[in-house]
Amino acid sequence: MRHAEIIAVGSEMLTPFRLDTNSLFLTEELNRLGIALIRKSVIGDDRALLRDAILEALERADLVIATGGLGPTEDDLTREAASDALGRRLVPNDQVLDHIRGRFARMGRVMAPNNERQALVPEGGQVLPNALGTAPGVWIEAGGRALVLLPGPPGELRHIFTEHVLPLLELRAGARRMIHRLLRVAGMPESDLDHRIAVIYKTYADVETTILATPEGIEIHLTLWSEDLAAAARRVDELAGRIAEALGEAVFSINGETLDEVVARELTLAGATIAVAESCTGGLVSERLTNVPGSSIFFRGGVVSYSNEMKTAWAGVPAALIERHGAVSAEVAIAMAEGVRRSTGASVGLSITGIAGPGGGSPEKPVGTVHIALAAGQGTRERLFRFGGERDRVRRLASQSALEMLRRHLVRARQGGS
Ligand code: ATP
Ligand code: MG
Repeated sequence: MRHAEIIAVGSEMLTPFRLDTNSLFLTEELNRLGIALIRKSVIGDDRALLRDAILEALERADLVIATGGLGPTEDDLTREAASDALGRRLVPNDQVLDHIRGRFARMGRVMAPNNERQALVPEGGQVLPNALGTAPGVWIEAGGRALVLLPGPPGELRHIFTEHVLPLLELRAGARRMIHRLLRVAGMPESDLDHRIAVIYKTYADVETTILATPEGIEIHLTLWSEDLAAAARRVDELAGRIAEALGEAVFSINGETLDEVVARELTLAGATIAVAESCTGGLVSERLTNVPGSSIFFRGGVVSYSNEMKTAWAGVPAALIERHGAVSAEVAIAMAEGVRRSTGASVGLSITGIAGPGGGSPEKPVGTVHIALAAGQGTRERLFRFGGERDRVRRLASQSALEMLRRHLVRARQGGS
């Protein structure tokens, strides 16, 4: 099997309120087996549309996975549509019926007649048991192709896929596999980055290079499909190494690690402790520092000091300093970082003060003005940033820049600099 299609079934995913996330999980799993996704679609709860979608997908791909619409209600029509598409009758399956009855009995409830529909299986279909819910999955082969029906609830889908679909796919997958590497880069505009590395990756025409800008930095995805895993891995790693060399310190991860994870690792490695004083990010930096298991080793604590009074009371910033320079200033950022470091006894103090907007800006200090300071044994550094964009973007970029300042400080300290 080489090519797959996914059909996400459910009218709710055609509204602004729900997103098809099952296909992301499925795509990652399929890619791992060397099966490429060639198309995915979202189809509402409409029997005829769904039947047509299944038929068309089976013409293009040798594996089609439909998720959702296996529930007991009238609008769950995936079984019927599959039966229409393949011309197979729906047959009641006694084992599935017993399983559903058993679940209801254990919950002390009587099974509604509706639920009997969930025991219907297209003729010739193999039942994929669902230990976490009522609706089983189904694997049906037709004309050398496979159609797989899986329930929509993400937990049930993952469970059935891992337990029952994966083993069937492993038997049918070819030797071809996908090698993927993800590099993450901070503090460099996308155009600069591409300018520096295009000359390199263009000489690796066999490797697909994709550059994606996100508020958490730029991602460089390197992908190579091959039957010779070892040779492909060498090739992709060689390209990753050359890109990392060209970009230097800006590359913070060559294995997909996030900045949060890298910073946590560096802090642990250094035996350092950190405390944070945040204003315009409202605790985002503390949240990201404590995202990683084991963060209590290095995270001493943080304050969210929005008002001037709290900057004084909690972060030790002299009131006169705020009066003289304003709360959003280099001087106050420095005092916050040093104050929180002093009062917590952490080896590093990190602070952020800025204007996230949309209000509060002035000609001298427009929205997006953010001061970040880092206080450590070697002294205190402060940087001024001018972020563009809306409130949420300013806050995310500010937290990202603070963590990036921290990372560079830790890496340089580790390498013996200051
Ligand atoms: P149920 O027995 O719960 O009705 P079902 O197989 O009919 O199962 P749906 O009714 O389509 O599944 O969806 C059940 C739940 O799973 C819903 O909360 C829905 O939002 C979620 N869900 C369905 N499809 C997806 C999807 N593709 N990605 C993420 N969540 C999904
Ligand atoms: Mg349903």
